[in-house]
Amino acid sequence: MQGRVIVVGGGVVGVSCAYELAARSVEVVLLERTTLASGASRGNAGTVSAGHPPLNKPGRVPQAIRQMGDPSSPLYIQPRWDPALWKWLADFVRYCTDQHVEAAMGVMAPLGLEALAAFERILAAETIDCGYRAAGYFDVCATERGLEGAWHEAEIIQRHGYHPEKLDGRGLRAAEPALTEDVLGGVYFPEAATLDPYAFVVGLANAARKLGARLQEGAPVTELLTRSGRVTGVRLADGSVVAADAVAWATGPYDLGLVERTGVRLPVQPGKGYHRDIRVGPRGAPPMRIACVLNEASVFCTPMRGFVRFAGTMEFSGLNDVMRRERLEQLTTAAARYLPGLGDDEPISEWCGLRPMAVDGLPIVGLVPGVERVAVATGHGMLGLTLGPVSGRIVADLLIDGTTDSRWAPLGPERFG
Ligand SMILES: Cc1cc2nc3c(=O)[nH]c(=O)nc-3n(C[C@H](O)[C@H](O)[C@H](O)COP(=O)(O)OP(=O)(O)OC[C@H]3O[C@@H](n4cnc5c(N)ncnc54)[C@H](O)[C@@H]3O)c2cc1C
Repeated sequence: MQGRVIVVGGGVVGVSCAYELAARSVEVVLLERTTLASGASRGNAGTVSAGHPPLNKPGRVPQAIRQMGDPSSPLYIQPRWDPALWKWLADFVRYCTDQHVEAAMGVMAPLGLEALAAFERILAAETIDCGYRAAGYFDVCATERGLEGAWHEAEIIQRHGYHPEKLDGRGLRAAEPALTEDVLGGVYFPEAATLDPYAFVVGLANAARKLGARLQEGAPVTELLTRSGRVTGVRLADGSVVAADAVAWATGPYDLGLVERTGVRLPVQPGKGYHRDIRVGPRGAPPMRIACVLNEASVFCTPMRGFVRFAGTMEFSGLNDVMRRERLEQLTTAAARYLPGLGDDEPISEWCGLRPMAVDGLPIVGLVPGVERVAVATGHGMLGLTLGPVSGRIVADLLIDGTTDSRWAPLGPERFG
């Protein structure tokens, strides 16, 4: 393609777009309002987890109602006047059907396999020291209800070409001795990997730079500029204009209103999550062999380099980075019930970030109708690390060739009307 592409947003999705475009010899300028990987891409759980059903599924609503009455639950909806959030929640509920799960899996299952392939391809081509480990992870259950749900999900995933393995408590403990005797069982997902997400984004950004991309930090975009149905560039907060022939909008949950001015609807809410990193040691985290998600608590425990990252919770409280102590503490309190060796050492890092939660649980990746050569890539929810690189590839296809693999058509923003 002739001309310059601007990528707005320097999280895993934006950096992946910049990398894929630069790899195809396109002139790329990435504009990041603060620093690279300053959003959810910095401190997430670091799992590349392919092929899972969306968050919207039957049973989700009764589960949410049960959780809302429980102060220790992973879900928190701040009571406040926010019509956009209430509309989003009402629409979210409408997608919680078996038909939606099946339709979503028709896209997410092949997309997940492409996502894994994208990581393997990038990590083979570039030197990115991010501790990538393709060893899978365990879904660990301590209750009958949790186990039933996990096994049901494993069956869905299996029908779509993946190879999850059901395990009883003994099998789980043999594989991960850090777990308590009380776990009932779970599932091993072999088609998954773990990595340090911040190191990955920074490494990929360096690789994009080597391919010729210009990555500018401290550059907040305040307007998408168009003329006669074509994009002409963007305006920055200091009033300056950067001209472009195409734009990829990858701002996570932020500033989507700037694209919605073109007429497209992007129903995304910020879903806050937290992490606590605890160093491995006699008074800290047990040395875990492999990542585990603690099913009932929805806490990921990912062994990274010298520490274990405990990450989770889903808090709907708007676009803010306020850290609630009780949510942070909940991560390790819940984890201690599954990992008796977890001590009370001070965390080496505490963090929160906002997931871009699309109302139907599918990422929003496609061309914006109504303006030529504007692509959007947001709404990746709990899977933005997993789907970042493959989304970058889809955006590059769309902006360079005007089209992409037809299997990804259901991800386009026009689905919301
Ligand atoms: C606790 C937690 C655990 C998670 N675990 C996993 C996991 O294990 N696996 C997984 O796949 N996903 C996981 N996720 C989800 C994943 O982190 C997100 O989906 C992903 O990081 C979203 O990436 P993004 O690039 O779309 O958004 P972001 O990371 O938010 O990046 C957007 C960037 O755009 C910039 N920006 C915004 N507005 C503008 C503007 N106007 N101009 C310029 N720049 C702008 C922001 O500063 C930011 O840097 C987790 C998330 C959380 C919170």
